[in-house]
Order: sequence, then structure tokens, then C-alpha cells
Amino acid sequence: MHELYLVESVLNIVQDYAVKQEFKKVNSIVLSFGRLSCIDPKSLQFAFEVQAKETPAENAALQFKILPAVIHCFSCGRDLELDIYEGTCPRCKGEEVMLVGGTEELQIIEMDVD
Ligand SMILES: [Zn+2]
Repeated sequence: MHELYLVESVLNIVQDYAVKQEFKKVNSIVLSFGRLSCIDPKSLQFAFEVQAKETPAENAALQFKILPAVIHCFSCGRDLELDIYEGTCPRCKGEEVMLVGGTEELQIIEMDVD
């Protein structure tokens, strides 16, 4: 379960901020990642609850912003959002496609602190 490792790096970042910005408590954290990045929000939530104990992020509410998978098709020139990436353009069935979104790594995009 690589979520454990991901949560550990999130908590390290939170700890660093807590020291630099002198806050005591994190109320909520918004995390973003790409739909195709193989991160399971439920596992992430669970790992967070366990690992955040006795850190400033204990009991913080997690929110996820999951970025869509997007391809650019060179045949029809469009950018399309996909549910499943199959390596072809769902509109024109072209195979000259490039994945331009959806594989983003886990990032902290917002944090509400006291
Ligand atoms: Zn196309």
C-alpha cells in the first residue's frame, strides 16, 4: 500500500509548515492527484487517520480533488477528458494521442490552519 508512504510525505510537509509558520493545528487539507495515478482515496484517508495521530494534522478533514484524465488527439486536434485511458481517441478513434492530464502526483493544494 503506497498510500502509507504518500501520507508520510504529506505529514512531513505539514510538520515543516507547522514549524515555519507556527501553527498548532490543521483543520483541513485539500489534496489533489490525477485519476490515473493509482491512488485510492479510501486507503489514503485510512492511512492518514492512523499516521496523523499526535501530529498537528490529527483529526484534520481531508478533501480530494481528483484531476481528470485528459488526452490530446493529434488526428482531430482536440483535448478530451476520459474515464478510462485506452490509448485511442474516443471521438475519432485516432491512435495519435498523448496523455496530458491524469497522472499528476499527490499534492497539497490547500491547508486551513489555526
Ligand atoms: Zn481524435
